[in-house]
Amino acid sequence: MNRLTGKVAVVTGAGRGIGRAIAEALHAEGATTIATSRSSADPTFGPIEYTPLDVASETDWRRVVGEVLDAHGHIDVLVNNAGIIAYDPLHELAMEDWQKVVATNQTGVWLGMREVIPHMITQGGGSIINISSIWGSAAVGGAHAYHATKGAVRNMSKNAAITYATQNVRVNSLHPGFIETPLTDAQAAEVNAYVVSQTPMGRAGQPHEIAAGVVFLASDEASFVTGSELVIDGGYLAQ
Ligand code: NAP
Repeated sequence: MNRLTGKVAVVTGAGRGIGRAIAEALHAEGATTIATSRSSADPTFGPIEYTPLDVASETDWRRVVGEVLDAHGHIDVLVNNAGIIAYDPLHELAMEDWQKVVATNQTGVWLGMREVIPHMITQGGGSIINISSIWGSAAVGGAHAYHATKGAVRNMSKNAAITYATQNVRVNSLHPGFIETPLTDAQAAEVNAYVVSQTPMGRAGQPHEIAAGVVFLASDEASFVTGSELVIDGGYLAQ
């Protein structure tokens, strides 16, 4: 339970679902963990620190990175997990909904990397894990903006990985399949049943199964892993 002792980790979108499980798993492995989400109310994390951060806000990122560096001196792990979905197909998608999804899922990931990477370079390295999706590589009908942004996360991660490889800043994307969270609970039951029925293991995944992959990528066990796509999807993309 000490795979991350001495490391400082920041997790976005950690108020619930996958992000919360990631924050809890990083903490359990010994990382000083800072959980963030848009909510200004601390969602009772116990020993895990919490601070509000809207990933689409440059001002918020600068404040949070400054606060973490002042308090702890370094940031070793950044998990860009915050994400939202809009279900509309391309020809019905409103500009406002497109922009919201892009701001959170794509610009948010880019801003996080931009604000944290200079410090990781100065301190001699770090690990960034960007949460994409199976929908970053494959498509189902609808959710056009979500697909666009998750594909962007996949390729932004590869660009950052090769750009900062010699500075020991590792950047990987993680691609969950269908995971039971408040996000998927809010989806139409028939959509959920369809995706699960198409999953070779025949079941939904759980947030802790994604968190386990994040812990590996964050740890020194993954010291030669950068630019990779870790797929945790019950076999969905293998078809
Ligand atoms: P979730 O249950 O809806 O949780 C999303 C979290 O992100 C919440 O804590 C939310 O809190 C936060 N958030 C939303 N917008 C934000 C913003 N602008 N700035 C900061 N935080 C924000 O979703 P989830 O299912 O755990 O998904 C987590 C990630 O996994 C997302 O990137 C999602 O696309 C990806 N993913 C999920 C699945 C799945 O099946 N569940 C599959 C593939 C990929 P606030 O609203 O309080 O800010």
